[in-house]
Amino acid sequence: MARFFRRPVRTPKAPVIAPGDYLGVLSEEFHLSKDAVLTAIRAVGIDTEHVREDQMDLLREVLSCKTHNLDRYKSKDPGYEDVLDGEVRSFNEIYVDTAPIIQMDWFLHFVADMEPILKRRKKKLLILEKTMEELHGLKDNPEKDKEVRIRATIRPDLIRSLAKQGLVRIGDTGSEGIADDHLVKLFSRIGMNEDVLLITQDRGLSERIVKLAHEQQSVQRQPYPQTFWEKLMHKELRYPARHTMVVCKLTEGGILRRCYVCPDCGESYYDQVSDCDGVVPCSKCIMDHKVRGEQEMDALKKKQEAEALKAQREAYLKSRPTVEKVIQRRKRQAAFLTLAIGIVVIIILCIVL
Ligand SMILES: [Zn+2]
Repeated sequence: MARFFRRPVRTPKAPVIAPGDYLGVLSEEFHLSKDAVLTAIRAVGIDTEHVREDQMDLLREVLSCKTHNLDRYKSKDPGYEDVLDGEVRSFNEIYVDTAPIIQMDWFLHFVADMEPILKRRKKKLLILEKTMEELHGLKDNPEKDKEVRIRATIRPDLIRSLAKQGLVRIGDTGSEGIADDHLVKLFSRIGMNEDVLLITQDRGLSERIVKLAHEQQSVQRQPYPQTFWEKLMHKELRYPARHTMVVCKLTEGGILRRCYVCPDCGESYYDQVSDCDGVVPCSKCIMDHKVRGEQEMDALKKKQEAEALKAQREAYLKSRPTVEKVIQRRKRQAAFLTLAIGIVVIIILCIVL
């Protein structure tokens, strides 16, 4: 997970904005006094005298998390709620890992779009207690990027507010924490009884869960045991329902992209969320199959043409007059002629005598 929190390559710094310029804008946008804006910004360790132009969106994140108002992060596409609803409605549990919570402002977009769906479907996002501890550790870690530290500072407050509203449940995984091995074990247990969606940016963990889900799908389900009378009456066997585990990552704008693993090349890739097994050939392998299929078809066609030509040639050779055939035919003709002459001679001799 550490790779998500690495310091990015520094680009040249944007110009600094005077407090008089940005405080007015933000206090109007968030209906807060300038002092309240200043206090909120100072609280996360931003030098209010040296705010750069490219930090304005981060300041908006700080104030949105502080005021617990994510309206500005809702999708502008009126049809998107239905799309997202279609993607998440079949899941009983939706786990959110640490990295998607602090990667850019994507979690804010996701929560803003999920809010009406969670309320309508009476579901909750599940954030593990260990994730909260991890956020706490990140906010004071001087090795991490400043923006990561700020996001790790402001998100827990928002998450607790969402928990109070009944949109988030902060779950405990026990003392083993959120190490990948433990999470895989946790999901293998939960995935047998529930339809689970895990949102994580960790590709390695995603691949393990996709493969695990595929294995669980392939296992033959055992029927429920029948009573003596059910057996006697030849009642139909009942099987436990199949459950699925799906892994997605958050992308720009809080859009979900599902992790798939290609069975041919073994590589993982991300694509739109669809209701199927997560082990699906990638576009490169599908293309390879197509090209290989076309090549095989060409080879087969050429082979059939060659065989037809060969058969034609053999038929010609069979029917072609050969020296041997001509001699035999002449021999047959000579024998017939001799026989005919013999018969005629015998008939004449019989008449004369
Ligand atoms: Zn592939």
